[in-house]
Amino acid sequence: SAFEYAPAPESRSVVDIAPSYGLFIDGEFTEAADGKVFKTVSPSSEEVLSEVAQAGAADVDRAVKAARKAFEKWSALPGSERAKYLFRIARIIQERSRELAVLETLDNGKPIKETRDADLPLVAAHFFYYAGWADKLDHAGYGANPRPLGVAGQVIPWNFPLLMLAWKIAPALATGNTLVLKPAETTPLSALFFADICRQAGLPKGVVNILTGYGDAGEALVTHPDVNKVAFTGSTAVGKAIARSVAGTDKKVTLELGGKGANIVFDDAPIDQAVEGIVTGIFFNQGQVCCAGSRLLVQESVQDEVLDALKRRLSTLRLGDPLDKNTDIGAINSAEQLARITSLVETGEAEGAERWSAPCELPSSGYWFAPTLFTNVTQAHTVARDEIFGPVLSVLSFRTPDEAVAKANNSQYGLSAGIWTEKGSRILAVANKLRAGVVWANTFNKFDPTSPFGGYKESGYGREGGRHGLEAYLDV
Ligand code: NAD
Repeated sequence: SAFEYAPAPESRSVVDIAPSYGLFIDGEFTEAADGKVFKTVSPSSEEVLSEVAQAGAADVDRAVKAARKAFEKWSALPGSERAKYLFRIARIIQERSRELAVLETLDNGKPIKETRDADLPLVAAHFFYYAGWADKLDHAGYGANPRPLGVAGQVIPWNFPLLMLAWKIAPALATGNTLVLKPAETTPLSALFFADICRQAGLPKGVVNILTGYGDAGEALVTHPDVNKVAFTGSTAVGKAIARSVAGTDKKVTLELGGKGANIVFDDAPIDQAVEGIVTGIFFNQGQVCCAGSRLLVQESVQDEVLDALKRRLSTLRLGDPLDKNTDIGAINSAEQLARITSLVETGEAEGAERWSAPCELPSSGYWFAPTLFTNVTQAHTVARDEIFGPVLSVLSFRTPDEAVAKANNSQYGLSAGIWTEKGSRILAVANKLRAGVVWANTFNKFDPTSPFGGYKESGYGREGGRHGLEAYLDV
């Protein structure tokens, strides 16, 4: 089934990484027009994995033209035909999931346990799910014959490279759009492998185009006059810049941006279960998760008990080789991201918050940061307000449910939140007052292709996933 676990990859030998890769335009791998290339490194070892073509404005134009040409035929196919391609892609992803999991772990630095058991099964599930919609759009309540928008320009971040690709590409193809996607500069490889999967699936040329490169290529893509739909996931700063640059055009835009999720633990919560949820909430993918539960709000009467249990649990986490199946904490994705985390943690200490880091030895090469907690945190502290996007949890306390809600909502962001309590009535009462796109109850970081995902406030607008995810790609 779509949700099957991938078999355990033994080692990096399961994946063949070429010394160089081109851009994927009109069904072919090709050099950048100006011949530029850049290196992608493994964040756990700093080893160069490959050299990839660096797209510029001329390549963006070429890719958009290919997508425009392909749109005519692709959008005219019956939904049932488009579904066949999507099902084929989903099956190939399952068949090649060992390769893809190892590749993603090498390029991103996240533990193989996560790519194998979370990223890859979800990637396949998204393609299966949207394949199922392709021939049912007439019956989705949009009226007869809802129309695709045209060419989509999609820009994604490095924290879930293949999963973000699936969130963008699967609904675009199901609804009859063609696309140009730009992966993040530190994680280009899995998108290029996906291009190969499109070829293997016999997808018509030009329907999917992949441009590796930097922010300038992203900017050229989202501002290209022949791009009808912009889908962006990344930082709030870049999201705002994109919103400004497309203002006054007829492009449809969805933005999935940053977060500072509150994980709220009430005094009646099962403490052991809550501690596991707190750990998953902030240390999954080294905290480089937009919907991470990066603020712990804990009821005063159980604060000491929760913190003791949490520190004990964090002391048992294994940090190290991301390809080791027992590793819990992998590498930070890049030197820049590590510098950003380090600087925010220093700010936290300078402002008077109390730092505790799990005792663990950091490898001598690569980019690493030990799981870290801040206590004595006030709402005014930078570590309580800014997204750190790293394995750093800020702990605040509260006395009453109303105070918990007020503190949780005291944020420029509104992407995620969690509630831990035995009382069902309290879950409903609190969840309805939280200004967050997703509220988990007695769990955290659970994903499913059937559920829409997206933000309130400066976490962005638009929804991806579920039926709502189709609307972003249709004129209804
Ligand atoms: P980023 O905004 O720096 O980069 C994201 C992508 O945008 C990259 O591909 C980059 O090359 C490209 N880019 C950079 N400048 C651009 C420009 N001016 N125009 C167009 N494209 C441009 O973010 P990042 O550091 O890669 O990712 C981390 C951020 O992403 C975090 O803030 C995180 O919260 C957010 N994020 C949000 C979600 C979500 O669903 N809401 C998911 C994952 C990550």
